[in-house]
Amino acid sequence: MTTYLWNPPAVQSLPVRGKAERLPINRLFFVGRNYHAHAVEMGKPVDKSVERPFYFTKAPQTLTASGATVAYPPETRNFHFEMELVVAIGAPGFRVKAEDAHQIIYGYAAGLDMTRRDLQLVARDKGRPWDLGKDVEQSSVCSEIVPMPGVVIEQGEITLAVNGVTRQQSNVDKLIWNIREIIADLSLFYHLQPGDLIYTGTPEGVGAVLSGDHITGHVAGVGEVVLQVGAAE
Ligand code: MN
Repeated sequence: MTTYLWNPPAVQSLPVRGKAERLPINRLFFVGRNYHAHAVEMGKPVDKSVERPFYFTKAPQTLTASGATVAYPPETRNFHFEMELVVAIGAPGFRVKAEDAHQIIYGYAAGLDMTRRDLQLVARDKGRPWDLGKDVEQSSVCSEIVPMPGVVIEQGEITLAVNGVTRQQSNVDKLIWNIREIIADLSLFYHLQPGDLIYTGTPEGVGAVLSGDHITGHVAGVGEVVLQVGAAE
């Protein structure tokens, strides 16, 4: 039996609707600029005919359950919400063809890709890694997983409100690269594994939150994600 100097970090996991077992998390992938109107508001329009999707990752330890209160993070003055549809992978997949992508989908969730926007934009514009802007502690917020094995979501309203005021409202049928295309492309680079989550990108309307703000997000047919922004540490 292997022994350790101290207890290893706990396995990150999420509740699964209708099941006692939790879904153990492997990796967290995020698609950048995957709705045209959001790409435009970030000043970086996308031309799908000449571009491929791009990705960043966050540590699994950034995973935070819906309903949590998180501290306003350090070293930012511009902490942003991004509402996203999350795909949960349930089977191994490498070089998956788009037409086969449904075979490795376990289910879906509603997620928030919380971001230090000021640091992300400095990194972007200086050609530095995005980690300080994106790999923020407690920034990968996720609802329960809804089992929908083999289902490819192609449309559904996606919305986010802060303190009850709608700030983001779009439809996942506006994804530049749809779920089949994302799984096909991402699996060219990575051997996808059960427990990988893919945050599929945010629509337009991203904005800043302050301590005390209450965020609610919905994806039609999937569910709700909730986050309370607490005081700064
Ligand atoms: Mn995002």
